[in-house]
Amino acid sequence: MTEVERHSYDVVVIGAGGAGLRAVIEARERGFSVAVVCKSLFGKAHTVMAEGGCAASMGNANSNDNWQVHFRDTMRGGKFLNNWRMAELHAKEAPDRVWELETYGALFDRTADGRISQRNFGGHTYPRLAHVGDRTGLELIRTMQQKIVSLQQEDFAKYGDYEARIKVFAECTVTELLLTDGKISGAFGYWRESGRFILFDAPAVVLATGGIGKSFKVTSNSWEYTGDGHALALRAGAKLINMEFVQFHPTGMVWPPSVKGILVTEGVRGDGGVLKNSDDKRFMFEYVPDVFKGQYADSEDEADRWYADADNNRRTPDLLPRDEVARAINSEVKEGRGSPHGGVYLDIASRLPAEEIRRRLPSMYHQFKELADVDITKEAMEVGPTCHYVMGGIEVDPDTGAASVPGLFAAGECSGGMHGSNRLGGNSLSDLLVFGRRAGLGAASYVDGLGDSRPAVAEADVDAAAKMALEPFDPPAKGVAENPYTLHTELQQSMNDLVGIIRKAGEIRQALEKLGEIRQRMAQVTVEGHRQFNPGWHLAVDLRNMLLVSECVARAALLRTESRGGHTRDDYPGMDADWRHKLLVCSAKAGDNPVVPDVDVVEKEQIPLREDLLELFELDELGKYFTDAELENHSGRNT
Ligand code: FAD
Repeated sequence: MTEVERHSYDVVVIGAGGAGLRAVIEARERGFSVAVVCKSLFGKAHTVMAEGGCAASMGNANSNDNWQVHFRDTMRGGKFLNNWRMAELHAKEAPDRVWELETYGALFDRTADGRISQRNFGGHTYPRLAHVGDRTGLELIRTMQQKIVSLQQEDFAKYGDYEARIKVFAECTVTELLLTDGKISGAFGYWRESGRFILFDAPAVVLATGGIGKSFKVTSNSWEYTGDGHALALRAGAKLINMEFVQFHPTGMVWPPSVKGILVTEGVRGDGGVLKNSDDKRFMFEYVPDVFKGQYADSEDEADRWYADADNNRRTPDLLPRDEVARAINSEVKEGRGSPHGGVYLDIASRLPAEEIRRRLPSMYHQFKELADVDITKEAMEVGPTCHYVMGGIEVDPDTGAASVPGLFAAGECSGGMHGSNRLGGNSLSDLLVFGRRAGLGAASYVDGLGDSRPAVAEADVDAAAKMALEPFDPPAKGVAENPYTLHTELQQSMNDLVGIIRKAGEIRQALEKLGEIRQRMAQVTVEGHRQFNPGWHLAVDLRNMLLVSECVARAALLRTESRGGHTRDDYPGMDADWRHKLLVCSAKAGDNPVVPDVDVVEKEQIPLREDLLELFELDELGKYFTDAELENHSGRNT
């Protein structure tokens, strides 16, 4: 029998970023005991890196803003492939979630008359991003941690134990979800420092593990983003949707090589920064796609006037949705008008006084000064696309966050649907708050409904999970041992080169072949040493997840024969209305490889957009995305 430390909770939240912490707060406030498990130190989740802000239609900077405008922007940004119910809930609830954060102790930047200040971002009609300088994610996490501490103090007063109903398990990696009779019964993992095993007996698990960026070579994501939640869900029998849609943020650092991919916030452009090519030309005016024609300024004068008078001018195309800007940069570089290190220029120096740049964008100022020796108050930055966000994720019920496996819930970047084919900047932080809360609530209601009939973990499953975790220590039965670092580098390179920002069938097939080869070699991965802090072993375990999600991305990318949002097919450059209403759903095939199961991808019809929401758009605009049959009943047809 495996030696394992054992704990029992009502709800286990895997992930301590914005989505996880909001779920913890909700489940605890409903009276349940909650464990929160995270790979890194508590407070160091990816959410901390979020810079620009949190989108919510509070209407502080422009009173014309409301949930309907935010909903429309989100659907347009996602090219109408979004789960419309999620987009609706998100647009309606985001303002309350931002206000609520201030009741936890957050302090957003203010307008002159004392309201929460909101900044411009790509694809948002009005200034909408509540922010704290360019360190908004940090404030989000700080205040939710503060709220958790205050709940723990309440618990101490009541039970004499701070951790009676919320306990944090930091630097602890979950490797497997356990099921009994098809329902969640627990989660298995190990302490990163000691390598010792840990088991959570729990009827409900909320996955809030973030994204998959570490499957790509150039990325803004940190080491934690290895698609664990996506893979855990797949192996447990849940489904992933939209995996072909990966967002390449247009502005990552391109130089020096050691920092390639690190994010340059969209807030730079929101605050007046403009993109230029090597001819010093503001090239984005050449790249406004048909679906957005008429909505963006067509001259520099109008674009510049818009910053001061948004009601009477159209916005600058520098702030088109990210997929459009990333493709435009890619084209400029390809056509020889790039910067010396393969990017383009982002110029804020000539647009704002130095003092103002340092005040509004302190992190960007320090990032460039320290990492690239560039003073952004004097020179332009060199920037280029970087893998940033995955729109695809666990298929969930919009209202409760429930996945298809009873007892499993998901929220945040590891869930899918909300952002369709492309996420608007700022819509992630609000997504975490809205759906983190809903998933916490969903898990609490589920546990409530179970009464005393909680599924019990089977000992054989614990042994199997331990065996799977330890496999990399076994030397291969035959053939040469493989090094996890080598395989990881090869995987990242293939995904970057062959399933990156611009894709074509032949290259995706090549990637799938390579992934197949890595799959074979994975069985030979062997790590040296012991279980005590052993990064090679940690990577070997994470690598399986990266391989699994990479296969989902590549298989779905091959099947979707159109270009939409974060999926651009060179061989199918247009958007196809017949694809808009279809989702690609990934599931794990039953087979003899439980660690990296084969992936099945099937088409599924989207639930049609509810009539009253459809009516929020003009028929002309919908005609660019929908089939005629889908618009048959639109009121515009009868006028
Ligand atoms: P995270 O915050 O990443 O948290 C994931 C958690 O899961 C971590 O605690 C991790 O340790 C844990 N975890 C993962 N796997 C395991 C495992 N196997 N076992 C245990 N724990 C595990 N969005 C915006 O809306 N506005 C912005 O301004 C913005 N700026 C950004 C800037 C940068 C540089 C980046 C990279 C992203 C930015 N985003 C922004 C996107 C946004 O920050 C993320 O999408 C969001 O924070 C994800 O939150 P999350 O709660 O889903 O996951």
